[in-house]
Amino acid sequence: MIYKRSSELFAAAKKVIPGGVNSPVRAFNAVGGEPVFIKEAKGAYLYDEDGNKYIDYINSWGPLILGHAFEPVVNAVVEKAKKGTSFGTPTEIETAIAELAVSMVPNIDKIRFVNSGTEACMSAVRLARGFKNREKIIKFAGCYHGHSDSFLIQAGSGAVTFGTPNSPGVTEGTAKDTLLADYNNLKSVENLLKANQGEIACIILEPIAGNMGCIPPKNGFLEGLRKLCDEYDVLLIFDEVMTGFRLAKGGAQELTGVNADIVCFGKVIGGGLPVGAFAARHEIMDHLAPTGPVYQAGTLSGNPLAMAAGLAMLTELDNRPGIFKSLKEKTEYLHKGIAGVLEKNGVTHTINRIGSMISVHFSEEPVVDFSTAANANNETFKKFFHGLLENGIYIAPSAFETWFLTDALTYKDLDATIAAVDKVTKEF
Ligand code: PLP
Repeated sequence: MIYKRSSELFAAAKKVIPGGVNSPVRAFNAVGGEPVFIKEAKGAYLYDEDGNKYIDYINSWGPLILGHAFEPVVNAVVEKAKKGTSFGTPTEIETAIAELAVSMVPNIDKIRFVNSGTEACMSAVRLARGFKNREKIIKFAGCYHGHSDSFLIQAGSGAVTFGTPNSPGVTEGTAKDTLLADYNNLKSVENLLKANQGEIACIILEPIAGNMGCIPPKNGFLEGLRKLCDEYDVLLIFDEVMTGFRLAKGGAQELTGVNADIVCFGKVIGGGLPVGAFAARHEIMDHLAPTGPVYQAGTLSGNPLAMAAGLAMLTELDNRPGIFKSLKEKTEYLHKGIAGVLEKNGVTHTINRIGSMISVHFSEEPVVDFSTAANANNETFKKFFHGLLENGIYIAPSAFETWFLTDALTYKDLDATIAAVDKVTKEF
């Protein structure tokens, strides 16, 4: 493939945008090389500025579950835009999408819309702290909840005490209130709860992790967390920014049967426009301003274009109950196909999958948490990534990301992907 124009555009971008990108993982730093610049997309395919075509498994990092430029979403946005792009007043469509979301997701009464998954998680944690009147939170190593300060924390020297910042600019003061546990390890959570009794407001996690590759919870992990939260009187926050409206109508809560106290959304709920949301039962949500004392606001929150896109997307998902099953079947098919050729080509691997989320790890051991994900062979992943790109398959440029399947993918696309994996890994 020729990437001439992408390369020129990247050079120009680097002069005026830090690293040439508006979000770091787009820069290909983890895999080497330069990013491709996308010009347009339709259905399952991306087209770059040099005219190369790719089967897309990123899909804007998750939102586009029905494929690119999905017509009902595009039409809804265009029609809304003609009537004004923002008013800063309440609008009817905000209630319409709120009613629909509340009807689709178990165990929530009210929802507040924001502009990103980061904002949703940041606000959910503030709400939990305000509701419980406590300062500390527990998060899991390898779970990503956006780039707000409280989440940019790594395990400190004594993990039972407090974390340390993992980005300059995050203060020690902030870090001391975020405690780090290990995903799929209830004991690590219980130790933190015991050592910090009466001080912890909430536990936040991706109920199905997607930011260290796809890592499903072990049997009993979410149930155990729910039990610990009840026992220690701590709120459980499910960050369903990836899983919400993707794994089931009601997200991971529906899929696993475990109820959270607060649920965060992003990605699919905005249909590809900048939307996040957080939701809970009345008594928790009514703690938010203007009803309650916990402040949270946004000039563009509930923006009419964003709400129109989200409403069109959720309406489609609500009206097509077979969609999650069909996505799961496609993902299973891809899993089997890729596993088959990797075995044939003698490539050590572990594949994790749930619903329409899947990740390929070049690892001998099961990948169940951050450290097992980090132990996988990144050099092999780099070769895999570039080989697939060269063969027209676009996966995320990092071994720690999940592939997202969409309804627009055909079995022919999946076969082409499996054939590309075969061709690329034969040479390993
Ligand atoms: N939470 C999860 C689970 C995510 O995967 C992401 C982003 O990838 C976020 C939160 C942050 O969302 P955003 O990038 O919209 O701020």
